[in-house]
Amino acid sequence: MTQPASLAKRLATLSESATLALNARVKQMAAEGRTIYNLTAGELAGETPGYIQKAVAQKLNQNKYTPAAGLPELRSAIAESARKFYGLDWIQAENVVVTSSTKPALYACLLSLIDPGDEVILPTPVWTTYNQLIGLVGGKVVEVPMTEDFDLDVPAIMAKVSKRTKVIVLNSPNNPTGTVFTAAALHDLRDLLLVTNITKVTVIIDDIYSKLVYEDDFTLVPACGFENMIISNGFSKSQAITGWRIGYLIAPEPITKAVTGLLSHITGNASLPSQHAALAALARGDKPPAATMALLKKQRQLVCQALDAIPKIKYKKPSGAFYVFLDIRALTDNSLKWCEDLLNQTGVAVVPGEAFDAPGFARLTFVADEATLLKALVLIKKFVEKA
Ligand code: PLP
Repeated sequence: MTQPASLAKRLATLSESATLALNARVKQMAAEGRTIYNLTAGELAGETPGYIQKAVAQKLNQNKYTPAAGLPELRSAIAESARKFYGLDWIQAENVVVTSSTKPALYACLLSLIDPGDEVILPTPVWTTYNQLIGLVGGKVVEVPMTEDFDLDVPAIMAKVSKRTKVIVLNSPNNPTGTVFTAAALHDLRDLLLVTNITKVTVIIDDIYSKLVYEDDFTLVPACGFENMIISNGFSKSQAITGWRIGYLIAPEPITKAVTGLLSHITGNASLPSQHAALAALARGDKPPAATMALLKKQRQLVCQALDAIPKIKYKKPSGAFYVFLDIRALTDNSLKWCEDLLNQTGVAVVPGEAFDAPGFARLTFVADEATLLKALVLIKKFVEKA
C-alpha cells in the first residue's frame, strides 16, 4: 500500500468523541463476556416509540431528495411548535433548517459565523463536541467555569467578552451536569450583553434536552430574549431516536440560508424517513412519551437516594436530561484513573470529567433499568468505601 497523504493541519486538535469512544469500549468488554454496568450512554434506553414506527412505515415508498432545508411541511410544523414552546413570534418556516441531527447543524452554524481567530465562550463543564467543532472552523475556545452549583457565572463570562468574542454557547438542561441555568443568571447575561458596546455576540442555544425536564420552574433559554440567538434542537433525546439523526436549527434567515447552502453540499437533506419521524413526533406535541418521563423521574430518584448513602460523593440533583455529575474531588485527584479503576474492579462504567473539561468529576447516566442502576450503585459504594 502506498503511504497515505498527511492529514490536514486543521485536524491537529481533533479527537474522537470521548463519550462515544468509551461507550464503544465498554460494549466491547460486555461482548467479551465481562459483566458490565454501562452508565455512560447519552441516549434513552427504550425502543423507537410506536407512533413513530407506524408513521414512518407508511412512508417507506418515498425515496427522493427533499429540499436541502427539509420538507416544507416539517419546517412549518417545527416553526409552529417552537413559536408556542418559546413564545417567540419571529420563528417562521424560513427560520428553520432541518438537519441530520444537531451535530451538523452546529457545525454548519459555526462555519457560517466564525472566522479564524474569532472567540467562542463555553461555560464549563462542557459537552466537548463544541470545542472540537470550534477548533475545526478555526475559532478559539474561551472556557469559563460555571459556579460551584453549575449555574452561569455571569461576571466571569462578561470579563471574557472582548472585541474578538463572536459566540457564547449555552446548553440548559446541561450535558454533563444535568442542571439548568437559573432565570436570574440568564436574565443578567441577556441584559449585560444588550448594553455592552464591546461587540455583538450571538448566543447559540443548544436546547436538545429542553423536553426532558423534571422541575416546573425551568427557564427556557430561548424565551429569555437574547438579542442575537440561534436555537439548535432535535428529536434524538426526547423521542429516543438518537440513531435516526434528525435535528434542526432555528435562526435569522441569513443564517438559515447560509447553513442550508453549506449542508446542501455536506449532507444534502436530512434522511427522509427521519423527517417523517419528526413530523410524527410534532403531531403529538413533540414531547417524550409520558411513560418515558415517569420512568426517568423514578430512576433519577433512585440514583439520588443511593448517592445520598455515599457521603464522599457530592452531586447536585439533576433538573433535566438524564445525567448526574458526581463530584469525586474528595476521593481522588485523578478522575480519569478513578473511573478506569472503577470499571476494571467493578464493571461499572461512568464517563470521567476530563471528557467535559472538568477533572474531579464523573458523569453517570440514569437511563439503565432499575436493577442495573441499583447494583451499579452498590458497587460504587463498596468501591468508595474500600479506597
Ligand atoms: N448537544 C448535546 C448537549 C448533547 O449532549 C448531544 C448528544 O449527546 C447532542 C447535542 C447531539 O445530539 P444529536 O443526536 O442531535 O446529534
